[in-house]
Amino acid sequence: MSASRDDNLTEFHWLLEVLQTIDVGMLVVDLEFKVIAWNGFMENHSGIAPQDALGRHLFDVFPDIPQDWFEHKSRTVIQLKNRAFTTWEQRPYVFKFKNNRPITGTSEYMYQNCTFIPVTNTQGEVENLCVIVYDVTDVAVSKQELQKANVQLKELSRLDRLTELFNRGYWEEQLSQEFMRQQRSGNATSLVMFDIDHFKKVNDEHGHPAGDEVIRMVARVVRETIRASDIPGRYGGEEFAVILPDTQPEDAMQLAERLREHVEAQVVKTQGEDIQVTISLGVSGWNSGFSEYSEWIDSADQALYQSKQGGRNLVTLA
Ligand code: GH3
Ligand code: MG
Ligand code: MG
Repeated sequence: MSASRDDNLTEFHWLLEVLQTIDVGMLVVDLEFKVIAWNGFMENHSGIAPQDALGRHLFDVFPDIPQDWFEHKSRTVIQLKNRAFTTWEQRPYVFKFKNNRPITGTSEYMYQNCTFIPVTNTQGEVENLCVIVYDVTDVAVSKQELQKANVQLKELSRLDRLTELFNRGYWEEQLSQEFMRQQRSGNATSLVMFDIDHFKKVNDEHGHPAGDEVIRMVARVVRETIRASDIPGRYGGEEFAVILPDTQPEDAMQLAERLREHVEAQVVKTQGEDIQVTISLGVSGWNSGFSEYSEWIDSADQALYQSKQGGRNLVTLA
């Protein structure tokens, strides 16, 4: 054996050794999709021994691979002699491997990015296809968690902290949209606004934290009384507003009356005396005379004012 042949063999040997142990998957198939090589990564993650994979059809070894998609992708790579990529965002994985990383244990399967590489012979013809598989579970899981956190953050920014009803800004956006919808379709929608009666006295006599507790109680009553399609908001300190889509003013009056009764019936326990409060409400149905949504609010607010004038704990229709 010549010295140079020996050198070549040595080089070939360590190259194979590296390929075998590298923490990236490598798989080679021929043009009939028979497996002709794969490395330790593929073996370890699939649990399939080389003798059970080599020489067999890839789709028999991995029945989960979408065959049409894989063949189409491979054909393009072979014909164009160009690399192709797939990312976990397009397709979470090509090879269904269990995720066994302790930190990212939240994902059941390994997320993968894959590269398809045409392998040419010495004449420049494509003879085989190599697929490189990268485990990107860490990246995928953290990106998904970030997206989830952003959605939650967006939801939080719409809510009032004390009551978890919509805050005024978001609620007004909703009213503005409902107003425009009304101008187009005219399906009856109503607005209810209300204010807690003599609330300054609650704060003065029981303290601000007890006052907060009363506001939270009222918000809970609102949530328990309205329908899922209604849109409740905390309009101001102890002022609330509810948009009732597809609701005639007469039906809105009934809901307002129920809100009034339910609040009146509640008892808020404090360290000192129990607290009971009432609310005054105004109801206004949309009408075509409104040129902007603020007129709708004014109309409900005026009805609310009449309830206050009339002695409080009342519902008034605009
Ligand atoms: P009225 O029956 O005419 O409504 O009398 P009122 O005493 O309720 O008068 P008003 O509606 O003007 O009262 C608002 C009070 O609500 C003043 C303010 O100190 C209190 N308030 C506003 N926001 C909060 C809050 O977040 N927590 C507490 N505890 N009090 C608040
Ligand atoms: Mg007020
Ligand atoms: Mg008040």
